[in-house]
Amino acid sequence: MINKIEEINFKEIKRISPSQFYSMKNCAYKSLLTEAFDNKPLLPISVNAHFGIVFHKVLELILKGVIKNEDDFNEEFEKKIKELEDDLMKNGFSFLVPVKIKVKNIGLKKAQLKKHLRSKTEQSTSWKSTKFYSEKWLESNDKLIGGKVDLIIKKSNSIEIVDFKTGAIIEDYLDGKGGVFADIKSGYKEQLKLYAYLYFENTSKFPTSLSLVNLTKQKFSVEFTEEECKSVFEEAKRLLITTNDSVRTGAFSATPKEENCKYCLFRPACSFFLRKLEKDFSLNDVMGEIKDVKKFKNGKMSVFLHTGKRLVTIKNFNADGFDYFMGSNKKISIYNLRKEVAEFIYSATDTTMIYE
Ligand code: SF4
Repeated sequence: MINKIEEINFKEIKRISPSQFYSMKNCAYKSLLTEAFDNKPLLPISVNAHFGIVFHKVLELILKGVIKNEDDFNEEFEKKIKELEDDLMKNGFSFLVPVKIKVKNIGLKKAQLKKHLRSKTEQSTSWKSTKFYSEKWLESNDKLIGGKVDLIIKKSNSIEIVDFKTGAIIEDYLDGKGGVFADIKSGYKEQLKLYAYLYFENTSKFPTSLSLVNLTKQKFSVEFTEEECKSVFEEAKRLLITTNDSVRTGAFSATPKEENCKYCLFRPACSFFLRKLEKDFSLNDVMGEIKDVKKFKNGKMSVFLHTGKRLVTIKNFNADGFDYFMGSNKKISIYNLRKEVAEFIYSATDTTMIYE
């Protein structure tokens, strides 16, 4: 029930992928923790993120022409869900199973994914005039930047790079005059520009278009110039070099902002985040000294933590861990809680984890 972080062995990052770049730009320390823990998250990945991997695997088989019709699709979809569930059970995440119940609107998502099947006409047209390259690996000459492109579509007079997204592609931005406008997420734009530059390094040609496609097959074009692609590429390389310099000097820095940390699966190992947690009650994590514990007849218990000048209550824990909390005044941090309406009261959830 209680997890511990041993000494962290920071390592230099050998290569970054275009899909990692934006996250690294927002907090390079997160990338260093990811590398130090060999990519093994310290907190559970959401079931939706797991489903996103299934989505990409099935989509890849459609694009490669392995899945040709509805029967192939249904068979492969069920197989991939089963593989995911076996994997989750093996790794102690049985609370995320059955996936079909835990993923919201999975029926709708499956139907949307099915729409990516090419019709017979599309298949025969494509066969004659277009070449599809799915999951194509591209890397820079110095191997510092590399990643797999979801799809490259080559026609006689065009080259299109396509990336598929399961979540929202558009978000709202402030225009500086008090107004709001909607645009493609900047991280996605930079990711595609990086792929474009990698494509150029590999073939001496830039693609003619860059596109993002969502679950409903809606396509969004990303405008670009060759200079922009080069500039993002150079920025990514500089970021990798300065991040690796911090491993050598030990002078780490991080950006513990809610939008960065909320989904960071390395929060328990981040000293910057833990310092923030000591004073910040806006998050779904808490940190403090154990003050008391109370066991109830329904097999549950509540834990009371002293954090700053506050007493925080966390309800709904299984009482199995009672002995650990009883009489202890250890400092612990607890992640993935649900905030109750009353201030400073939280409840444990399926994904709650405790670190000493
Ligand atoms: S918890 Fe926040 S500050 Fe710490 S590594 Fe993760 S994103 Fe960065």
